[in-house]
Amino acid sequence: MDPAIRFVKSLFKSYYSSASCKLKPPSNLDKREFAFLFFDRGEMIRHVGFHSEEKLRSFIKSGPPSHIYYSSAYYLTPEEKDMDLKGWMGADLVFDIDSDHLPTPCKEKHDKWTCLDCGFVGKGLQPERCPNCEGRRLKSESFYLCRSCLEAAKDEVFKLVEEFLMPDFGFSSNEIHLAFSGRRGYHLHVESEAVKELDQYARREVVDYVKAVSIKPEVHGFHLAVKGSYTPPSLDNPGWRGRIARGIYSFLSRASLEDLVALLPPSRRHEAEAILASKDILLKAIESSPPRWAALLKYGRRFWEGLIAKAVELQHCEIDERVTTDIRRLIRMPGSLHGDTGLIAMPLTLNELDTFDPLRDAVAFREGEVKVYVEEAPEISLMEMSFGPYKNSKVRLPSAVALYLLRAGLARLV
Ligand SMILES: [Zn+2]
Ligand SMILES: [Zn+2]
Repeated sequence: MDPAIRFVKSLFKSYYSSASCKLKPPSNLDKREFAFLFFDRGEMIRHVGFHSEEKLRSFIKSGPPSHIYYSSAYYLTPEEKDMDLKGWMGADLVFDIDSDHLPTPCKEKHDKWTCLDCGFVGKGLQPERCPNCEGRRLKSESFYLCRSCLEAAKDEVFKLVEEFLMPDFGFSSNEIHLAFSGRRGYHLHVESEAVKELDQYARREVVDYVKAVSIKPEVHGFHLAVKGSYTPPSLDNPGWRGRIARGIYSFLSRASLEDLVALLPPSRRHEAEAILASKDILLKAIESSPPRWAALLKYGRRFWEGLIAKAVELQHCEIDERVTTDIRRLIRMPGSLHGDTGLIAMPLTLNELDTFDPLRDAVAFREGEVKVYVEEAPEISLMEMSFGPYKNSKVRLPSAVALYLLRAGLARLV
């Protein structure tokens, strides 16, 4: 066996056997399908069922697997290999927030992508299509341990919970289970009778609501022209009505001259300075009761629609729709180790999230050092220390850092 794999396996084994192991098996364990990846086998082992937590834990300790998943769905016979015969009984509502999908400025520095059709290489957030050949087959190479990206993902979790799941959908904090993904983001599982039997179309509606897909501002009271009696939307209104109002307010309060110019048609761009100069008056107009939206409407249709688009962009939540709409999704088990980073997919309460620092708190192996040869690696921040950058160097590193580099294919044991 490759010595690096032997080393990594022994670390994983020690974690799953230790008292500090955070593994948190799902509720209704005997109704879930489990799936595993192993270090020395290529294919995923799935359709595994367990009747007790004890059996699951001993299976994991004896492996140990590199990745551990379970189904968001509940099945009558989880071991059945034919999906149609498994007896689907319902599923948790799952959300995946991945910093890969968030437009953080630091991506320009640490992420690149390659077009598999024409070979074009770009930096930053991966686009939908290659700008050179319009191809869709793009491969991204992203750096996982970026603090700013992880912070952006955390903000998105708070937005999902505090703007949508609790106030709009009415879920309580006991129904929302949260975990760090072990790499670039967070997973949220809603376990509630209210969502269990939703089919993929109903889940699609949830996604569209949260992402504001095809949102119609008029439905929420944002009219270009008002006829008859009308109660204007205000900052404290529930749902998208209040959210758009707050988004406009927040955009406007931070807008620069260029931001405003971009919302105006060429013939009216000269008005941007006047808008900027009267910013405080405009914000007061939104705060007043009832709000006076006419103060903004007077700058024309394009400005009004642009403001609303900016508000929606700020207020929507960037969730991975494939995860939420899939009623048979396999998701990483909270408390298990992520096989590509060696970090713990740490289960968290909403209160813990505020102070949670994945690069400090999700580190599983805090002791020991190991000597590795690093071909090339960027600077890594882990356990509140910085390591590297390295290029063709032999270094003695803490186990957690060496583990990360080994799994990322950037180093080998010496
Ligand atoms: Zn291309
Ligand atoms: Zn970043």
